[in-house]
Amino acid sequence: MADKKLDIVPLSGWGMFTDPQPSVVAGPCSAETEEQVMETAKGLKELGINVFRAGIWKPRTHPGCFEGIGVPGLKWLQKVQKEYGLKVATEVASEKHVAECLKHGIDMVWIGARTTANPFLVQEIADALAGTDIPVLVKNPVNPDLELWIGALERLSRAGVRKLGVIHRGFSTFDKIKYRNDPHWDIALEMRSRYPEIPFFTDPSHMGGSRDYILEISQRSLDLGLEGLMIEAHCNPETALSDSKQQLTPDQLKDMLHDQIVVREADSDSQEWKENIYQLRAKIDVIDENILYALASRMQISRQIGEYKKDNNVAIVQASRWDSLFDKVVKKGTEYGLPEKFMKDVFNAIHEASVEIQNEIISDKSSEH
Ligand code: PEP
Ligand code: MN
Repeated sequence: MADKKLDIVPLSGWGMFTDPQPSVVAGPCSAETEEQVMETAKGLKELGINVFRAGIWKPRTHPGCFEGIGVPGLKWLQKVQKEYGLKVATEVASEKHVAECLKHGIDMVWIGARTTANPFLVQEIADALAGTDIPVLVKNPVNPDLELWIGALERLSRAGVRKLGVIHRGFSTFDKIKYRNDPHWDIALEMRSRYPEIPFFTDPSHMGGSRDYILEISQRSLDLGLEGLMIEAHCNPETALSDSKQQLTPDQLKDMLHDQIVVREADSDSQEWKENIYQLRAKIDVIDENILYALASRMQISRQIGEYKKDNNVAIVQASRWDSLFDKVVKKGTEYGLPEKFMKDVFNAIHEASVEIQNEIISDKSSEH
């Protein structure tokens, strides 16, 4: 069943992202003091940023951490609007937050990952936004659940929010990975292909969890054809009260945006999203990574089976088991339109490697005795 297109105003109609790609939102994780907010905003204004972010209410994992400055910080954001002409954005997690933002003339709000995971809160926020014209960005939920993310968009859309966009910040994972959150680009790409009309931002700061990864994640996101970035920047990241390891100074952000990032030529002037050769290649890279991950996971299980066979004196190759598995995958592959010979070559190679690993385990173990 095709997804129902959402009624969305393209980014060019939001009145805040006038620059060529990428569209950037930048600013500190948290508004901490008036001085920190103003100094960071000044630096960002100088490098050409138009939209300033700062968390006013902070969802922290542990109580007792800095949980945001609250309503007084909204006055500092008003000062940023007035002194530097920047648009300002903050996170909302309740109807009360929305009411305060509307009262203080905040230009845009976003829904954080922990809130998107909760349909009650998303509905409460959607109801509070009904009848307003304020742009809303929806971060992906912390868990890799595309439908939950889409459900949040549907709730906002039904409430009449038309300046609606998404932010991809990666998903919590128990696996040991280089980034703080798992990018799961496949989920992001699925969202993009199901709802190409929705403006798409990536948040390399929360995805990477370290300033070292901001450039590579941003580049990857642009190569995939995603048009926006939300990046944390702080006038003095070392002293930041939250997320100090992942924030850039305005100067570092300037180097990245002006000198390091490669922006590929746009396909056309239209707002329509189309894939160019870079995006198609970047998609292949995502799929290759998933194939490697799947192969490595399969091999890991083969190893465990090897241990079991060793401990229970079971033969490594059990022909009947392999024959039925082989027939099943080859049949499945042909249903997907994959050539039979190719399927046979691939799965024979996988089987051989698996037998080899199990042989190694058994000979290793025998030498222990
Ligand atoms: C944030 O943007 O500061 C934030 C808390 O992000 P997330 O909801 O992605 O964790
Ligand atoms: Mn943060």
